[in-house]
Order: sequence, then structure tokens, then C-alpha cells
Amino acid sequence: MLKIHNLHAEINGLKILKGINLNIKKGEIHAIMGPNGSGKSTLASILAGKEEYEVSKGKILFENKNILNLNPDERANKGIFLSFQYPVEIPGVSIANFLKLAINSKRKYNNLPEIKASQLLKKMKEKMEMLKMSNDFISRSINDGFSGGEKKRNEIFQMAMLEPKLSILDETDSGLDIDAIKIVSNGVNKLHSDQKSVLMITHYKRLLEHVRPDHIHVLYDGKIVKSGNYDLANFLEKEGYDWIKKT
Ligand code: ADP
Ligand code: MG
Repeated sequence: MLKIHNLHAEINGLKILKGINLNIKKGEIHAIMGPNGSGKSTLASILAGKEEYEVSKGKILFENKNILNLNPDERANKGIFLSFQYPVEIPGVSIANFLKLAINSKRKYNNLPEIKASQLLKKMKEKMEMLKMSNDFISRSINDGFSGGEKKRNEIFQMAMLEPKLSILDETDSGLDIDAIKIVSNGVNKLHSDQKSVLMITHYKRLLEHVRPDHIHVLYDGKIVKSGNYDLANFLEKEGYDWIKKT
């Protein structure tokens, strides 16, 4: 589904990514871990198409097509979803209206007619039920006065509604409480299928315990220095990242 080949990227002449190779197949869950400043969020931003970074070398293929020349909207329409893509508060725009716009933009891109109001409502109800959310949620404004847990729930709900082929979840460095970890991990597990792939960026082994990725990669100084299965998360919890400097 996603193939990253020898990706190099920089900003204002500062080299951040220094040759990333990654292959995510349909149905797989991958996690990227690594110390602060190693380039995890940069990688997520570049996959989503944020334009401030310059890709100086390498390729990104999504479903075997080069996506480097596509803008963020086009990538979203193709089925790439980045959580925290809309972290801003948008007072006055309800979650329902926001989702209607996002879904219709995607449908238009794929030559489908606009979603009917009744269809949208039905879908929202289904997904809210699945994620055990309360009904008044969708009439609230985007992130306006949301608690940490509610923000997470909203992101997972967006993911459920947009049904992306590839979901990229970039956890910030600020603490996730146990509720938020549960919301995210339950959501990812419920939405994941053999047709959908997930790239999770996290330093919470807790989260990985619940989600159980197929592959874990360690990003350090712009490169993937180690890849492995779930055991790697246990190793990192015990050893931290100091061993990398010695190797
Ligand atoms: P991580 O998410 O792994 O903590 P980031 O991708 O956020 O790391 O950052 C990697 C490096 O790139 C850091 O040294 C950071 O300061 C730098 N960097 C990232 N984004 C920018 C930016 N927009 N402008 C300048 N430097 C940046
Ligand atoms: Mg980051």
C-alpha cells in the first residue's frame, strides 16, 4: 500500500530525514518509535503532503503511484488520513458539517455524488455506536472546548467516518491519560481491517500493548535504525535509546 524509498527531507537547509525505507502492506499496522527530535512528526507531515518540508531525494508510492506531487487534499482524497491534521479549533463549525464537507470533497474527487443527509446521519449513528460515543457530540464545534479525551474521540470518529486506506496517527509528546489511550487503541482496533493499514507514531508502549502492531521501527536521527516485531517495544522500554549511540 505504502512504499517509502530512500526518503531524504529537509527544512531551510536543515536535513531531517536521511534515507527512510519503509514498506507497509495492506492490512498491516506499523509503529514508529524513537526519541524526541528524531524526525517522526516530519515523516508524518511529509506523508500527508505538508509543503514546508522539501523532499530532496527518494520516493513515496501509495498504491504503486508516486504521490510526492500531490497536495494534502489530493492525498486525503486518495485515502491517506493524518490525525492532528485539523488540530485547530473551529468554533461555529459543527463536527457534522465538517465531516459532510470532508466526505463530499472525497466523493467528488472519486466521481461520486454528494452523500444524502439521511445517509450521512445513518453513518454517523453507526460509527458513534461502534465507538460508544454520545449523540450530542456531532453538534458540537470542532475541538471547541474539548477535553484531551474528547479530542482523541473526535479524531477517531473522523477516521471512522472518512474510512481511510492508510491512517497515520502521530501522538504528541504531551501525556495521554489512560482514558485517551483506551479510546485510541479501541478505535484503531475496531476500524482496522485486512483492507486498511495503520502507521502509529507513539512512545507509549501502553498503546502498543492494546493495538499490537505487526512491525515496530525505531527512528533515530532521520533514519530507521532498527525494525522488529512487538518484542522490540519491550526491549525499548527496558533499554531506552542510549544503545543506538554505541552501535
Ligand atoms: P519528532 O517528532 O521525532 O520529535 P520532529 O520531526 O518534530 O521530531 O523534528 C525533527 C527535527 O526537525 C527536530 O530537530 C526539529 O527541530 C526539526 N524540525 C521539524 N520541523 C521543523 C520546522 N518546521 N522548522 C524547523 N525545524 C524543524
Ligand atoms: Mg513528534
